[in-house]
Amino acid sequence: MDLQKSLLLVDDEPSIPRALRRALRGEGYRVHTVNSGMEAIELMRMQKIDVVISDFRMPEMNGVQFLEAVRRQYPKTVRMMLSGQADTNAVIAAVNEGNIYKFLTKPWDNEQLREEIRTAFQLAHEGSVDAETGFLLPPHFHESLDDLVAHRSVTLLVGELRNDASLRNMLPEDERSVLYKTIAKRCGEVLVPPVSLAQGMFGFAISRERADREMSAICQAFQQPLNTGNHFITPDIVLGRANSAVHEDNSAAVLTRKATIALSTLDRASMLRFATYCPSSEATFQLRHSLEHDMPKALQRGEFFVLLQPQVDADTLRIRGGELLVRWQHPKHGLVPPHEFVEIAEVNGFIDELGDWVLRQSIDLARKLQTLQADSMRVSVNVSPRQFLAGFDAPWVQRLRQVAAREPALLKYLELEVTEGAVMEDPVAAVSILELLGDFGISLALDDFGTGHSSLAQLKSLPFDVLKLDRSLIVDVDTDYKGRSLAGHMISMAKDLGLLVVVEGVETQGQIEFCQTHGCDLMQGFAFHRPIAVDDFLFKLSSDLVNDKGQSH
Ligand code: C2E
Ligand code: CA
Ligand code: CA
Repeated sequence: MDLQKSLLLVDDEPSIPRALRRALRGEGYRVHTVNSGMEAIELMRMQKIDVVISDFRMPEMNGVQFLEAVRRQYPKTVRMMLSGQADTNAVIAAVNEGNIYKFLTKPWDNEQLREEIRTAFQLAHEGSVDAETGFLLPPHFHESLDDLVAHRSVTLLVGELRNDASLRNMLPEDERSVLYKTIAKRCGEVLVPPVSLAQGMFGFAISRERADREMSAICQAFQQPLNTGNHFITPDIVLGRANSAVHEDNSAAVLTRKATIALSTLDRASMLRFATYCPSSEATFQLRHSLEHDMPKALQRGEFFVLLQPQVDADTLRIRGGELLVRWQHPKHGLVPPHEFVEIAEVNGFIDELGDWVLRQSIDLARKLQTLQADSMRVSVNVSPRQFLAGFDAPWVQRLRQVAAREPALLKYLELEVTEGAVMEDPVAAVSILELLGDFGISLALDDFGTGHSSLAQLKSLPFDVLKLDRSLIVDVDTDYKGRSLAGHMISMAKDLGLLVVVEGVETQGQIEFCQTHGCDLMQGFAFHRPIAVDDFLFKLSSDLVNDKGQSH
């Protein structure tokens, strides 16, 4: 028997260790059994233990307290917990704090359990590096960081690879490994090497002085394309930063939490690549957390509603339709604008439900337009990147399929807005979805054009009908000659490609004249209408239609 491989089982219910011993027969471990945390600590004083598996609910000292004590005294022992589902929350907290390497649930599957224990022994013997990423594994990261913070000032950085999901789809395993290893190198001179925190998230520690001097250089390094073998990939990495500070709890767990909070305050729409934790990050985090928590119920309670921002014809200035924009009337936080919750819904997946609800509103409105015979009108709906890339079975595509089958005449009143970023994330998938939608007869608009990196040349092969020029492109046309020239060229190129051009965010008389002289088709902006209630829009529309009829008689 290999005496090196010693396993300790701690459980106050004797049948469990008995069953475990049976399951592990033939694995070549030296198995010790005790029935309390105190006894286990006694035994560990005399006997080197590689892997310990503990129950959670035990008299005197529970499993989390016991494993925390093991971590302090024997950091190299790999700590696992085998416990009932009901204890999940307490145990997950312990995993996040680095006290537990793995949580296994009762009842267990023998084969899976044997595999987990084999991996744990490997970890105990071969060190603590994740094979795919080359990153440290969490328990060792916490130990190294805790040791370090005791002696010097440290900055902990948590990085998020925003395009991790699509890279996982796109790259084979060996190239993924190259990607992560190159990312690790780009972290620079680290004090504690990168650790995997969650899928697409990693942490690393650098000296405080270095962080103050070099944050932007580090961010830039993460934006340079890298070669994974067959692909050049630009990892889209943003960073949250937390500094150790005198008189504060600088444990690895606290610093990781703070850096993660800082990271979560970074808005996707913003150009910022990093955020540093400060006390006000806590409030932003709490707000986001509360919005995330309240979202599903809010839809049932009818707290979401839509407004419609009319678009006007550039020549006649008459309404030609509009864009539906979602709002949330929150009972505690008041009116919440979409930039505060759409991104959260994108990340947690609630956008599928919310987006489908908004689409339903647009279909209802299309029915009303049909009744009014307002045939020149179109109502456009935003489709978020996650919805767009979810594929042919996504709820919103199913709904449109249903409309195409039952009420095809409604589809000509509808337009979908997709952003450049969503299309560029996976251009091949994007084209097949766009073609399907085009077959339905729905108008397709490319939203926020001018905010990303793609050019009209790249987009000319995509089946869009409409180009929406972003507000940032026309904001300075009154004052800046170069801006004026750039926006003018974009409009004329889009027109050459046969696209209908909508300019967004038109606010001033100068901007209106600019749009008119450069041949844009529709304008949308505060100069004409702010987003208004759908009923007000319909009222305006019906009175216009009545006037038209009066004039033509
Ligand atoms: P967007 O699609 O670019 O929508 C236009 C935004 O610009 C709207 O902000 C609108 O109120 C604002 N805007 C319009 N004219 C002007 C102007 O003249 N000046 C200025 N400064 N702003 C103007 P809103 O309603 O806050 O929406 C912000 C973003 O939230 C939208 O940007 C869109 O990306 C997202 N969003 C809104 N509704 C939905 C939705 O139903 N689904 C999804 N996925 N996203 C939505
Ligand atoms: Ca839009
Ligand atoms: Ca837009």
